[in-house]
Amino acid sequence: MNILILGSGGREHALAWAVRQNPKCDELFCAPGNAGIADVATCVALDPEDSVAVVAFCADNNISFVIVGPEAPLAKGVADDLRAANILTFGPSAAAAQLEASKAFTKEICDASGAPTAAYARFTDGKHAKDYVRKQGAPIVIKADGLAAGKGVIVAMSEQEALDGLDDMFSGAFGDAGAEVVIEEFMEGEEASFFILSDGKNILPIGTAQDHKRAFDGDQGPNTGGMGAYSPAPVMTDTVTQKALVEIVQPTVDEMARRGTPYQGVLYAGFMIKDGQPRLVEYNVRFGDPECQVLMMRLGAQALDAMLACAKGQLDQFQINWADDHALTIVMAANGYPGSYAKGSEIKGLDGLNNETTLHVFHAGTKSDGTTILANGGRVLNITARGETLQSARDAAYETIAKIDWPDGFYRKDIGWRAL
Ligand code: ATP
Repeated sequence: MNILILGSGGREHALAWAVRQNPKCDELFCAPGNAGIADVATCVALDPEDSVAVVAFCADNNISFVIVGPEAPLAKGVADDLRAANILTFGPSAAAAQLEASKAFTKEICDASGAPTAAYARFTDGKHAKDYVRKQGAPIVIKADGLAAGKGVIVAMSEQEALDGLDDMFSGAFGDAGAEVVIEEFMEGEEASFFILSDGKNILPIGTAQDHKRAFDGDQGPNTGGMGAYSPAPVMTDTVTQKALVEIVQPTVDEMARRGTPYQGVLYAGFMIKDGQPRLVEYNVRFGDPECQVLMMRLGAQALDAMLACAKGQLDQFQINWADDHALTIVMAANGYPGSYAKGSEIKGLDGLNNETTLHVFHAGTKSDGTTILANGGRVLNITARGETLQSARDAAYETIAKIDWPDGFYRKDIGWRAL
């Protein structure tokens, strides 16, 4: 079958790399893709949020399966439009994508399904929100309701910080996303991510991971999109995993179906775990980036079979063939990221680093000028390795990154520290 992947990051490169290995895949396209994706797929200059253009491209190129990478096209209903055109699609409807697009919506779903999460209140005006903060005290968490590219959350350790955060949000700093604010109880514990496929009814866990949000070693510096990840996450023990599935994930999927907006795609659940009890922090409606890179490294070609079973509503008939392995990815970012950074510097030393199954340098923000690879974004490369142990995966990834010659980039030296 011919397959189209929407997106252009390291996540989509990892998806394309895994899908390409599956003999069911004939032609593979990626829109818009990047310089690394171009090695495994035909990159096409299409806007992933432009449904009309995407549907027309599918018709012209005999595409029978579309995998939607990022959240923006999902929130805009691109998956709805593809399904309306009878194209098998991996990714939730706009209605189901509310699980990421609105924090207040997710809280309603938790209330209705009894899923453990932080206590909360919702506000549309600053005065009542501030009164509530003064009553609750700090630490406390302030969240813009809508999509704010990871910047709409303030974990306030003092009351003043929370009050200032509310001023910011209600001043319109986050546009429509901040028109409603959710104020949450601060949860203590260790965070982990859990990835589950849902076909609307049945669920299938496809791996756990832990991310590294801060820019610098020792979890210092500003928040980023993620500087590295590994899978599995040791804090997600079998007992915690079972509790998460039974108390949180399946009830969410059931509640979404009950409302007539079944959830189909990957559900990326963020948990806070304390004393063996997971509580929901957030849902995302797509794979995490860079978590997807470690999941795809572990799943390989069967990732396509799993996504197909998901899109067809046949997850109850599908099983993952798990190896007892570990994967780790290190993000190489442009100097200055997540602040301002330069684009266009040359990256050398990339030739011959990859092998078939245990090591791959996934590209995020790169482009090719025909002969050389140039940096073209904040997060630029994801050096991803698989091993029998987390230590061996980590060693392989760090040995590889040392061979890359890119003076304008930096990376964390401590990815995986929590688990080692
Ligand atoms: P992203 O998608 O970038 O993770 P987001 O904007 O969707 O961010 P959340 O994931 O809800 O926001 O929150 C971001 C981070 O803030 C969480 O990963 C967690 O570290 C912290 N956080 C959120 N809610 C709470 C809470 N109730 N208690 C403690 N920490 C929290």
